[in-house]
Parts: sequence; C-alpha cells; structure tokens
Amino acid sequence: MTLLHPLIENAYRVLNGEELTEAEAMALVEQIHGTDIPDLISLANKVRNKFAGEIIACSIINAKSGHCNQNCRFCAQAQAHNTEIETYDLLDREEILSSAQEIYDAGVRIYGIVTSGYGYKNTENAEFKRILEAMDELHERFPGLKICASLGILSDETAKALNLPHFYCEKRDGVLTLRRDFVIPPGSRVLLVEDEVYTGQSVMEMREIVRALGAQVAGTICIVDKSMGQAPVPPPFASLYAIPVESYLPGACPLCAEGIPLVNQ
Ligand code: SF4
Repeated sequence: MTLLHPLIENAYRVLNGEELTEAEAMALVEQIHGTDIPDLISLANKVRNKFAGEIIACSIINAKSGHCNQNCRFCAQAQAHNTEIETYDLLDREEILSSAQEIYDAGVRIYGIVTSGYGYKNTENAEFKRILEAMDELHERFPGLKICASLGILSDETAKALNLPHFYCEKRDGVLTLRRDFVIPPGSRVLLVEDEVYTGQSVMEMREIVRALGAQVAGTICIVDKSMGQAPVPPPFASLYAIPVESYLPGACPLCAEGIPLVNQ
C-alpha cells in the first residue's frame, strides 16, 4: 500500500521520461495541500536530480527596491502598489561589495545585481555610474566571480558601457540590413531577439545577415509568437507568449468588406 496521494503517485511516471498532461499538472497545483506538499517537493527534487545535472549556485542582491514609477500591474516594485515590501534607494558601493564578500566566502561564484525601475539610458546617470564602479571593484576584489546585472531597459550607450555586445537590423528599401557601423565578428554566436513573430520573414532575413558574416545563430526568442509555433523559424525558438492572429486572403477579408481601410501602424 502506498501512502502517496494518487495524483503524486501518478506523477512519478515523469521519472521514466513520460510527460504529464496539462490537466494532470494543474491538478497537482490545485489539489495538493498540507502534508502532501513535501511528497510533491520530493518528487520535484528527484526530477531535478535526474534531468537537470549539476547545480550551480548563484546569488542576487536587490540593490534598489521599490519606488518604481512605471507601475507595471504585476510588479511588487511599483510605487502605486501597497505590497509592504522593503523599499530603498540604490545601495552604497560598500553594501554591494560586502554582500558579495559573504557569498564569495561561501563558495558562490555568480553574483547578480538587480535594481527596480525603468532602467538606465545615460552613462552620466549617478546611479548607473555607482553600479559600474561597484562592478569594477567586484572584478578586482573577487577573481573568478561572474557578475550579472538586471538593471531594466538599457540604451546603446549604457549597454556598451556594460560591455554587452548588441546589434540591431533596420529596414532599407524594404529589406533588413545591418547599418551604423555594427560589426558581428566571424565565428561569434548570436541570439536573435524579436518583439513579435508572425510569418518569420524578419527572423529569416536576420539569420541570413548573421550567416553571411560568418557568425552563427544560437537561437531566436520573441515576446509574442502570433504564429502559434507555425512560423518556419529553426529551433531553438522560444516566445514569452503565443496568441493566434486572424489573417485573410485578399478578397476574403471581412474588414475590407465592411469598408475598413488597411493601415500599417
Ligand atoms: S519597470 Fe520594472 S521595477 Fe518598475 S514596475 Fe515595471 S517591472 Fe516593476
């Protein structure tokens, strides 16, 4: 006789490489409570052990918390939401360094600096300068420490200051091209990032640009996949969100039939 909840017992088959249906996964989320939760955690740990390989510890510091005037609806950092989180301005360089010392002494070699807020567009911004100074000192003081940063939206200028190589393509005579003296070194691996994918044409044009320069496309990501996975984008390809979009052949469009003009916004 097993003491496991039947839903968890059923879920053990994932250890044999089988997949749960969405309904089975949702049932686990919705129906496992109380003393059954540790059994589910135990199964999750076994799945991780079997399929995820070695665990690499990392640590992040919430270097600036709350006060964000962007007020995204989902975010606890938004100043308009009363979520009772601790809020504070950007920490001093010393506070960032002493927290890094703690995790470094504990053997952690990846350290992420996270800040609330829209981001940094100008390298003259006092906060951005303080973050760069802290990063420089982290590199000096802690050999082998890999530093990550989640600082919101960056501009060309601030991304360059962080030594983040990036490029973007622009349309010229209806064709995507690489301009502005952007250079993709031969042999480099490039991640393509799109806001939305529908036909996949822009992605294919960017792939060709990268290939022609002797570089390699490592993968493609987008925010919205309007093709619902049907666009001919070679893997690996991932989207944050997929939503179907209706399209019509010329002559069969109900909007045209209603006299609604075609606009490109
Ligand atoms: S911009 Fe970032 S920090 Fe600010 S509310 Fe939106 S998600 Fe949160």
